[in-house]
Amino acid sequence: MDSDFTRNLRNHTGDGAAAGDHDHREAAACSTRCTRDIMPQDARYWADSHKARAEITRKGCTMEHAIDRRNFLKGALATGALAAGGAALAGCSPAKPEEGGSAGNTTDAGALPKGYECAEDWLGEKPVVDEGDIAETKDYDVVVCGGGNAGVQAALAAAQEGAKVAVLEIQPEASWVQLGNDICAFNAQWLVEKGYGPYKVGDIVAEFIRRGGGRVSAEIIRKFVANSGDMLDNIIAQIPETSNLFDLETGQAQIQVAYNMPDGSYYPFERGGFKSWATTIQNLSTKNPTPVCGREDVSRMTEIALYCKDAAEKLGAEYFFETDVTVLEQNDAGDVTGVIAKGPDGYVRYNAAKGVILATGDFGANPDMVVNLCTDINEQSLRCDIPREEMTGESNNKGTGHKLGCWAGGFIEQAPRPCMNTNGGNAGPWGTTPFLWLNDYGKRFMNEAMTPYIKPTTLKQPRGILATICDSKYMDVMKQCSTDHFSPNWGAAGVDIIKIMDRMEEQMQSAVGKGAEGVSVDGVYVIEYDNTMPDQVYAADTIDELLDYLGYEGDAKKEALATIEHYNEMCHAGEDSDFGKDSVFMSAIENPPFFGSAQPNTGRGYVGLVSLCGMVTDDNLNVLSSDLKTPIKGLYAVGNCLGQRFGNAYSTPAAGSSVGMALTHGYVAGKIVAGGTVK
Ligand SMILES: Cc1cc2nc3c(=O)[nH]c(=O)nc-3n(C[C@H](O)[C@H](O)[C@H](O)COP(=O)(O)OP(=O)(O)OC[C@H]3O[C@@H](n4cnc5c(N)ncnc54)[C@H](O)[C@@H]3O)c2cc1C
Repeated sequence: MDSDFTRNLRNHTGDGAAAGDHDHREAAACSTRCTRDIMPQDARYWADSHKARAEITRKGCTMEHAIDRRNFLKGALATGALAAGGAALAGCSPAKPEEGGSAGNTTDAGALPKGYECAEDWLGEKPVVDEGDIAETKDYDVVVCGGGNAGVQAALAAAQEGAKVAVLEIQPEASWVQLGNDICAFNAQWLVEKGYGPYKVGDIVAEFIRRGGGRVSAEIIRKFVANSGDMLDNIIAQIPETSNLFDLETGQAQIQVAYNMPDGSYYPFERGGFKSWATTIQNLSTKNPTPVCGREDVSRMTEIALYCKDAAEKLGAEYFFETDVTVLEQNDAGDVTGVIAKGPDGYVRYNAAKGVILATGDFGANPDMVVNLCTDINEQSLRCDIPREEMTGESNNKGTGHKLGCWAGGFIEQAPRPCMNTNGGNAGPWGTTPFLWLNDYGKRFMNEAMTPYIKPTTLKQPRGILATICDSKYMDVMKQCSTDHFSPNWGAAGVDIIKIMDRMEEQMQSAVGKGAEGVSVDGVYVIEYDNTMPDQVYAADTIDELLDYLGYEGDAKKEALATIEHYNEMCHAGEDSDFGKDSVFMSAIENPPFFGSAQPNTGRGYVGLVSLCGMVTDDNLNVLSSDLKTPIKGLYAVGNCLGQRFGNAYSTPAAGSSVGMALTHGYVAGKIVAGGTVK
């Protein structure tokens, strides 16, 4: 019996009819962005963003699209068909490059400085603003470009050090919002008092380096780990009594833990060869009933920003909204002396006696930068004939800080340039739970517990089906998971988050008897009870039947049956003699009902949420010239403008590391530039 999934697969892969079909293209573009395209973790963050950031609908995607599973499958599978049709175009040029641009020829790329392996000049000429167009000059110690997660903390820390600070932010003040929900911080007094830490800084740094494949700066990571606690305590000190932001008792905030490991004494623990810690603060998305700094209905991250802005302003900092940073100013020695930015009343020169901090976020909304810089994902997409506009991320940031840094003589770290698009697990609502995963041939393809390698490995699987399979003992496996990004979320001690597990069990049981129809099961990696990202789950009395529901037939089905038999033998032997998965996860698939979920592997590589690659700096976040030795005096990079943090992909020993790093490196740079000290 066919499931919707199977039927759609058959309808849209055989004849290539989808290639010119607008409906399919539209659905593909939207569904891959709005739900999941072999990366459920994006969906979770996407859901957060949906609440926080109305602008995301700019791309024509709405939640209504997102939950239309049929459209999703239709569209995504249509993209699969395109992939088949576009195979002959493997390695083809991007859609828009200037004729004559030659990939790999770094001298033909217009204004680009040497050292970039790309076909197009994504940088362009440095803007020149006529002196006569500058309406006003203002003098500061520190100018922060961008008032996002990193910029707000940079401004607060610099102001606390006594500096005169300006923040230049492109968003309008009335609708100024922050991205994110989860915050990772280590060893804050607030956390340690609750039993989460103190953890060993060196161990955590080593873990980030391991996950980053050695492509990170150990000292930049150490600055994050060692200072994140102070950063968090500093934020908490700004939160007024009226706010329930960090209220563990009412469940407004939680610290993510693994099953039956309710306090810090159990951490770190290792799964798949990677360590994880319990240290992530997750805020429910409920709003503060009391208006926050005059605004109502703001997300929790925006609430944090508003309090911190308020605190910085009390110390004399000034925020300038609707202000687009245009170009840096440098003296004859190349030192950065300030910024020219365009505000509501025209161009203003902001002199910066102590330094300029680049905090304009990532470049995910700039398709030209994505296609030229993120070679790992663009090559994947181009081979599937996916246009550059569909490779972009979910922020609105266009890479201003990166461009400013490059024009000033700095360099973006070399490829592979990581993006936040990895590590979400395979098909199904179970996050990174390492059940048995099968590819389109019905073959197992990786150690499913090695979470940092999920995305790179799944992307390289044959186009078609990616399936997850378990049996009635699924909970035993889930209970063994770490607190890695996108693990099943057991919440924190004292908080009734377990109910999301109860709900999942109920929903899964309701799949029994539903056959090829399956049921929608809410994701259990999401902390909030009402913020769910569901997946279709099928239940069957026999493995044979389940494989039908998942779309396997012919040789692929035979292969899948043989794979499961072999997997079960290894489970009984207590050892994954093929790929080395931890024995605690080796649970034989033998007790009915059998459960499974499948998703289409379209081969689309894209930024995901944000790009994570940035300027190369020294240990003090001071942007370096290409000799990797000479700092550009007066120029600093933080947040997603800062490089050398993730290396290969987004893989973290605790969720929320992207926000955690942005907040912390902002805090660190603010202090350093203003003359303060950090750990
Ligand atoms: C939807 C979504 C949800 C996410 N959720 C999480 C999460 O829960 N946990 C986590 O760890 N990570 C999360 N991330 C990633 C995380 O939010 C970012 O990595 C983090 O915000 C980076 O901080 P930043 O300050 O570098 O950039 P941003 O927070 O993006 O801030 C950049 C700021 O610069 C401003 N700006 C841009 N260009 C200009 C210009 N030309 N002139 C002036 N201002 C400019 C922008 O308006 C913005 O305010 C999420 C990302 C997205 C897209």
